[in-house]
Amino acid sequence: MDRVILIKYGELTTKKGNRNFFVNTLYNNLKNKLKNFDVKISKDISRMYIQFKDEELEQIKAVIDHIFGIHMYHIAYIVNTNIEAIKTKLIEILQKEEFKTFKIVTKRSDKTFELNTQQINPLLGSHVLKNINNIKVDVHNPDISVQIEIRPYNSYIYTNGYKGIGGYPIGTQAKGMLMLSGGIDSPVAGYLAMKRGIRIEAVYFEAIPHTSLDARNKVINLTKKLVQYTDKINLHIVNFTKIQEAIYKNSNPTYCITIMRRMMYSIMERLAKKHKGLVIINGESIGQVASQTLTSMNVINQVTNMPVIRPVACLDKLEIIDIAKSIDTYDISILPYEDCCTVFVPKHPVINPKLEECIKMEKLVDYDKLIDEAVNSVYTIKVEEQEHYSDLL
Ligand code: ATP
Ligand code: MG
Repeated sequence: MDRVILIKYGELTTKKGNRNFFVNTLYNNLKNKLKNFDVKISKDISRMYIQFKDEELEQIKAVIDHIFGIHMYHIAYIVNTNIEAIKTKLIEILQKEEFKTFKIVTKRSDKTFELNTQQINPLLGSHVLKNINNIKVDVHNPDISVQIEIRPYNSYIYTNGYKGIGGYPIGTQAKGMLMLSGGIDSPVAGYLAMKRGIRIEAVYFEAIPHTSLDARNKVINLTKKLVQYTDKINLHIVNFTKIQEAIYKNSNPTYCITIMRRMMYSIMERLAKKHKGLVIINGESIGQVASQTLTSMNVINQVTNMPVIRPVACLDKLEIIDIAKSIDTYDISILPYEDCCTVFVPKHPVINPKLEECIKMEKLVDYDKLIDEAVNSVYTIKVEEQEHYSDLL
């Protein structure tokens, strides 16, 4: 085994005081996600190293591409930290590559190493020129850039680089409760929240028979996409039928959406307390629909003191769609099944709702009782980590 996957943490390195916690969380997440592979993972203060079997490399890369907290990674050759060994290995590696121009970039973290970078680069550069024909050095725009990391005991040589998805490792923050509908926005909101290290549980409101099982399956399938970035997501399904019917019987039609969303927030708060979630996360985007004007958001938000995080609040729809495509939720989201908002949506929902009006209409029904019932009858599906790694490719 002379190659490893060398992982760089990037953003984590700005977290000075918490660094060990972040690195250990990433390490545990990696270990967990790669538990079905024949790998050995080790770490030091700034790097992680994964020993792998060649035949599993592509699948392992696909898993790594779904792990937050990784900034860059490389498939690196490993060699003893010894200048002669490095020289030999370097030629062996470059003989397999096709290039006309190259440069050598050395990083020396082993400060006890006999040579410094100003000495190593020309030394290795001229060694390459001597041993490989028809090539030259180009420090500005080389065909390949050969990176060499000199570390205690082992050094690493690589000519490739893959971008990780960045962010913070999941579990470095507390839990958040994601309002997950079948739309485009909420899966993206969930992804962006997880990217900040938040572990999520998802909540879907359905109104059977006004909404279909196809709509529910769509949300389950979206959750399966999101779970690829973490280990498991509990998807709580709330039976919202009675509440929704009560709203439509007892409210001015223009206020139905506002009151419906206030009920959703109340239930979210109850579920968050039950499952130890500290924030509500949703896919609201400012101005997108009537219930997402600042006035609407304000009136809706009055039912809870819990922070509501809206990761896509300030993004354009096209920006949200780009992310949805990149996380592979878009094609599921655009399937045509109705969710409980669209079924009852009035022609002209109020754009500037008034809190007093909501409160007046809400007094007409014992919503507390209906909310209790809805919370107590939640049905939870545990959506587990993707087991078929080839699906990730
Ligand atoms: P679209 O992507 O078409 O805008 P959406 O799911 O964002 O669909 P909105 O009506 O804009 O639908 O709802 C705003 C947010 O409220 C959603 O992003 C989601 O977080 C939450 N939400 C709406 N309906 C539901 C539902 N049935 N279950 C759970 N959350 C919901
Ligand atoms: Mg939306």
